[in-house]
Amino acid sequence: MDTGCLSSMNIAGAKQVRSFAGQLHTQRCFTSSSVQALKTSHRTTFSSTSPGLRNKGKGSRRGLRALQVVCQDFPRPPLENTINYLEAGQLSSSFRSSERPSKPLQVVIAGAGLAGLSTAKYLADAGHKPIVLEARDVLGGKLAAWKDEDGDWYETGLHIFFGAYPNVQNLFAELGISDRLQWKEHSMIFAMPNKPGEYSRFDFPETLPAPLNGVWAILKNNEMLTWPEKVKFAIGLLPAMLGGQAYVEAQDGLTVSEWMEKQGVPDRVNDEVFIAMSKALNFINPDELSMQCILIALNRFLQEKHGSKMAFLDGNPPERLCMPIVNHIQSLGGEVRLNSRIQKIELNPDGTVKHFALTDGTQITGDAYVCAAPGAIYFQESCFLCTYSV
Ligand SMILES: Cc1cc2nc3c(=O)[nH]c(=O)nc-3n(C[C@H](O)[C@H](O)[C@H](O)COP(=O)(O)OP(=O)(O)OC[C@H]3O[C@@H](n4cnc5c(N)ncnc54)[C@H](O)[C@@H]3O)c2cc1C
Repeated sequence: MDTGCLSSMNIAGAKQVRSFAGQLHTQRCFTSSSVQALKTSHRTTFSSTSPGLRNKGKGSRRGLRALQVVCQDFPRPPLENTINYLEAGQLSSSFRSSERPSKPLQVVIAGAGLAGLSTAKYLADAGHKPIVLEARDVLGGKLAAWKDEDGDWYETGLHIFFGAYPNVQNLFAELGISDRLQWKEHSMIFAMPNKPGEYSRFDFPETLPAPLNGVWAILKNNEMLTWPEKVKFAIGLLPAMLGGQAYVEAQDGLTVSEWMEKQGVPDRVNDEVFIAMSKALNFINPDELSMQCILIALNRFLQEKHGSKMAFLDGNPPERLCMPIVNHIQSLGGEVRLNSRIQKIELNPDGTVKHFALTDGTQITGDAYVCAAPGAIYFQESCFLCTYSV
């Protein structure tokens, strides 16, 4: 019997779990609510003939193994004492504590993804009147989820909330929903492209501070990297550990692959680790992605002991995360409108925004406008591309 936590980042060495997860994926998304459902049943047993598990645990009999999956949450890390968390908290509380505006601004926001909703939340906290316009009939944008006829939720994809997300962690705390994050063990687990069905772990020890816990995780990994590769990888990361944010920003001109080559990091590290990381971060390959993007994440992970700890939401994001934000916005006089697709941003002769024109012919006018919608919104004759992140 093998016992382990069940999460997409913690499917340790288990072909059969992969096929179980694959099965779920073909039928319906493997969501945190599915995990929750499994959690309620506590123990779930699967038959297995996987050689991947034969050497692990007891009770192997002619390769026929039963895999027992136990879902388990780990304690919330003490993020509240970190400088990043405190700074982010100070910033968001400044909206609430600032003097109320004598004339609240009506701010029109395009998009009810997390950026649009949190922008509206903080504007409402500061005493303004946000109106969020969402094209679709569902909240959340890339966090959206849909219920099927059996009542199960399909999610756009698995969403991880890292310890190193000070603004998001503060947002949860301000809404009083921090307990909706289910924390997992401090490990990063990669599928090994050259050994299909096998997984490689980077375990961060609880006893070491950052960045030593990350260095230890790299050095202890035996399945994926050889010793010379580990040493070269760790040395390659040294400038990022020592150079801080200025170094990170200076790497924007290089792709991930170019940076790896410059630092002498072996190609295999790129193939085994950074293809997965680049795709997870931006859905593109290391030869297309700016190294700045990877280093922003790695730097946080290397500087904060609990930065790379992961949490999953305890249910579907529209209900469990977006609705509390919407309720908060509405309680302060703001609005969130679904099925309100902006077709055009009409301009005044001086180039300022006149109004947002919706596809149903409505014109929405405000004192200020925010675009929190990635992709194309047609701006007069040309295509207007913009994103806004809080
Ligand atoms: C499969 C998947 C997995 C991910 N996993 C993670 C993860 O594990 N951890 C993590 O931190 N991030 C993850 N991300 C990234 C994260 O989901 C996004 O960065 C974040 O949700 C983006 O939020 P946003 O508000 O900026 O944009 P969006 O969520 O894209 O919101 C934009 C909104 O604007 C609306 N809109 C577009 N055009 C118009 C228009 N013309 N009029 C009105 N509204 C419009 C859209 O419908 C949408 O609701 C993942 C993304 C995906 C797709």
